[in-house]
Amino acid sequence: MRWGEKIWFDGELIPFSEAKVHVMMHTLHYGVGVFEGMRAYRLDDGTPGIFRLEEHLKRFAFSARAYKLELPYTLEELKKAVIETVRASGFGDCYIRPIAFINLTQIGLYPSERRLSVAIGVLEWGKYLGKAYERGARVATVRWRRPPPDVLPANAKAIGNYLNSYLATLEARERGFDEALMLDHRGFVSEGPGENVFLVKNGRALTPPVHASILPGITRGTVMVLLREKLGLSVEERDITLGMLYDADELFFVGTAVEVTPIVEVDGITIGNGQPGSITRRLQKLYEDAVRGRVEEYRGWITRVE
Ligand code: PMP
Repeated sequence: MRWGEKIWFDGELIPFSEAKVHVMMHTLHYGVGVFEGMRAYRLDDGTPGIFRLEEHLKRFAFSARAYKLELPYTLEELKKAVIETVRASGFGDCYIRPIAFINLTQIGLYPSERRLSVAIGVLEWGKYLGKAYERGARVATVRWRRPPPDVLPANAKAIGNYLNSYLATLEARERGFDEALMLDHRGFVSEGPGENVFLVKNGRALTPPVHASILPGITRGTVMVLLREKLGLSVEERDITLGMLYDADELFFVGTAVEVTPIVEVDGITIGNGQPGSITRRLQKLYEDAVRGRVEEYRGWITRVE
């Protein structure tokens, strides 16, 4: 993990080591804040391209709105800020992390103002699940469920949500699995701690709906388009049971960090023939081509960093 030398912090690029906050800051105590995760890829002409920048920033803005927090920058300003930060890093392939927080040294849940500070960092970061990208992930359902819809808005990417994701990840890793899979409060399949899940059965793709307490991923949206338009599959958002998952022909995770990662085992049950499925393999290649600007009709998803 190598960080870019500069952090964009409230309007200016400053050295990484100077991007600091106070230990008594509101967000550090209560987790009230929002963030994003996106990737840039080096395109074939050498220019970095940010994948689906606008969609990520729109979700960033929604996440803040869902918590009645004020992002003090417009979409255009944030776009410029992200581009500037990527450019300053000199990186080609990189992960981009915008974060917005209540930068006040106040105790008590009700802050005197809800105007956020915004910081953007970039880092070189490989495949989130490492070798599982090639060989397929071994996953396990964990005891921690996704929060029910009347506990918090799971479709907002808020800092505090990740306590749940953290516990799920810890449990899966400590039991020797690559990744966790979480159920929603009803017992239906929800998602991984940082990725959405798809199953393929008899040439149809299914993925859990928003009401299954998922974060509706940008990659999930991208993959729905690729499956329909390029691989000719029907894609449905439907409640999925664990039994349906065990019986899938193919399973895979999708997300900015994991991209498209095959799942070959769930709870000790082999999926398909235990190898990454052929549709999953084709989708991995297609996704890689799309993010690198090699698919003409999807170039509009890419913001070039000239
Ligand atoms: N679910 C959760 C809980 C996540 O943290 C992420 C990563 N942001 C995703 C799904 C995938 O979202 P995206 O494709 O937008 O990265």
